[in-house]
Amino acid sequence: MVTSELVRCIRDMLTDNAAFEAAEIVMHVLGIDRSTLILNSRSEVPDGAAKKAEELAERRRSGEPLQYILGSAEFMSLGFEVNPSVLIPRSDTETLAEYAIEKLRGRHIRLIDIGTGSGCIGISIAKYHGDVELALADISADALSVAAANAKRHGVRAKLLQIDILNELPKGQYDAVVSNPPYIESGVIPTLQTEVRDHEPLTALDGGADGLKFYRRITETAAGFLESGGLLAFEIGYDQGEAVSELMKENFYEVEIIKDLCGNDRVAAGRLKNS
Ligand code: GLN
Repeated sequence: MVTSELVRCIRDMLTDNAAFEAAEIVMHVLGIDRSTLILNSRSEVPDGAAKKAEELAERRRSGEPLQYILGSAEFMSLGFEVNPSVLIPRSDTETLAEYAIEKLRGRHIRLIDIGTGSGCIGISIAKYHGDVELALADISADALSVAAANAKRHGVRAKLLQIDILNELPKGQYDAVVSNPPYIESGVIPTLQTEVRDHEPLTALDGGADGLKFYRRITETAAGFLESGGLLAFEIGYDQGEAVSELMKENFYEVEIIKDLCGNDRVAAGRLKNS
């Protein structure tokens, strides 16, 4: 294990921790950072702040995810605005962003992030890569306005495309496609944790009866917007490696499955064959 993996594993353990969440809520209400919180631990709390913090803690106690309460989440060490119209960035998804950064480094890239939500994948790739012409696509106008705010926050220029990928194709021609599409089987949705099921957008989770609807559609149509030899990299569910690589092999070569830090299959990627 390398040090960045250790930090990530430990962070995932700690986000369940009440002390961590309490400090996050107090810092948010007081508008201060962690070092100010520690250095000024003896300063008087302003009027109204305690009540506000208690209200937020009550929302948390009733199951609302902390990131929606705070309005922000961290991904690839960058802060992203979030609200209930977008999925909260998952640390597992950093596997996809890191993979794409590694594969695409060193040359100018026209990249599209399909089903972008908060924009965290496309924006962090653009930010760390440094020479990306970025398009962020989503079916939801509300999600795209969050993505736009996040692109602006990180000084990344992005074209926003509101499209229903199941029924239309993105405008433009790209060198690479990344996507974390909805991939939960419809039948499994009722069994998700209440934090996810009752608070996160179902359109970002439901991948149809077999969970593969978006993979099927994107792999079948990619030739309409991706250059031959261009990279397609998906996030996948832990048990979808075989099914998604089978789908990809039709139109893609160098198909590979990459595991996340927990050792689960997490990314499926390949390059588009010449048509
Ligand atoms: N990994 C997400 C979850 O566990 C699902 C994300 C998706 O469907 N794209 O809830």
